[in-house]
Amino acid sequence: MTASELINPATEELLRTVEQTSIAGVDDAVARAKVAQRDWARLAPGDRAAALRSFAAAVDAHVDELAALEVANSGHPIGNATWEAGHVRDVLQFYSATPERLSGKQIPVAGGLDITFNEPLGVIGVITPWNFPMPIAVWGFAPALAAGNAVLVKPAEWTPLTTIRIGELAVEAGLPPDLFQVLPGKGSVVGERFVTHPDVRKIVFTGSTEVGTRVMAGAAAQVKRVTLELGGKSANIVFDDCDLEKAAATAPYGVFDNAGQDCCARSRILVQRNVYDRFMELLEPAVKGVAVGDPASKDTEMGPLVSKSHWQSVASYVPGDAPVAFRGDAPSGPGYWFPPTVLTPERSDRTVREEIFGPVVAVLPFDDEADAIALANDTPYGLSGSIWTDDLSRAVRVSRAVEAGNLSVNSHSSVRYNTPFGGFKQSGLGRELGPDAPLSFTETKNVFYAIGDA
Ligand code: NAD
Repeated sequence: MTASELINPATEELLRTVEQTSIAGVDDAVARAKVAQRDWARLAPGDRAAALRSFAAAVDAHVDELAALEVANSGHPIGNATWEAGHVRDVLQFYSATPERLSGKQIPVAGGLDITFNEPLGVIGVITPWNFPMPIAVWGFAPALAAGNAVLVKPAEWTPLTTIRIGELAVEAGLPPDLFQVLPGKGSVVGERFVTHPDVRKIVFTGSTEVGTRVMAGAAAQVKRVTLELGGKSANIVFDDCDLEKAAATAPYGVFDNAGQDCCARSRILVQRNVYDRFMELLEPAVKGVAVGDPASKDTEMGPLVSKSHWQSVASYVPGDAPVAFRGDAPSGPGYWFPPTVLTPERSDRTVREEIFGPVVAVLPFDDEADAIALANDTPYGLSGSIWTDDLSRAVRVSRAVEAGNLSVNSHSSVRYNTPFGGFKQSGLGRELGPDAPLSFTETKNVFYAIGDA
């Protein structure tokens, strides 16, 4: 085993070292998970439901501890981190109802009885990114466990601590230790072994489109199931008939939340040309008002970027001659701080086309509804977006025309555990959350029982 060093992104101090799982360690974990899964699937549905509720209760009792860990490891503001830990509890609670409700169908046929069963897949591999370690892990493991599977989670190299703790809480809550295992390690080792191991029957991957494409290609060799949640370059479309004050006041929070390290970040603000100047006047104080600072402080709205190398990547999008309209504040001194930054580039600029994954937003004018839709869709991504208009017909037309999986009208809401989440085009494949997520961790088995004459 090798160890990796974790750095607190707000202080640049060494936080902890974490052992990395080897290929042999993954193989051993898969073998144990396979055995545990059979026992788990055989349990009475009510007993599986009770076990998931106990797991949720254990998380609930440790929300503050998990939140503090995320502040230290990822630099998330304490308010956000507390919500994220509570979200783990809520998602577990939501899917604890699944074991007793995952019913198949009885289909009328001649000569017998036809029944479908939702059979678990077996062992599931969940690979998570560093931007939302807790929510993204639970979106995979909760419905997968609820549908009768075993789960192995590989957290991102930089941010494994909360996932490791959640794995311990599962065992403390009474889940079989081999059923749900957290395997910290490298993507090129643990992640790739999930893809190549024949007993891992499905991969839930959240991360970059580049690595997701590779995971999908590897999975194809075994016709392995995949759910992919990938990158985004979402549009916030502001029409001239909306509440412009509200659109401008909320726009920073639609992109700078989690320091812009959010797959749903509305990183392109498209503004109707006749209200563009007024919108920019209103946006400036809103951007300068974002409270950037110590993530442990309750008043902080935006913390640092996650790592030095990520800071360098974000900074490369704002060179000295960048078309900066205005910027917010950021602390100086140690820490990977980057101020909220508003650019006014040309439509062809790489800041308009590429996912920056930091607190940098491009504002572009558009002429009319058709131009807005064309501009919003001019990207290989299709994850989320917002539409600001007080015209109901326009809201319906535009929300149907924008090619994205998660849209909100007159708000920036993307994620609720009881509604489906996922991307169009190269933003992903499949859907997480919502009532149907457990079905994506099952195979439908159809059985015909011939009935003889009496
Ligand atoms: P990444 O693709 O670099 O890594 C994601 C995970 O994959 C990590 O755990 C990494 O170790 C692992 N990995 C790396 N190489 C691998 C390989 N060859 N095989 C298997 N696993 C491998 O992404 P990141 O930088 O951690 O996260 C940022 C990206 O994630 C952004 O593009 C963002 O948009 C995306 N994201 C998408 C969603 C969504 O729901 N659509 C949510 C959050 C983040």
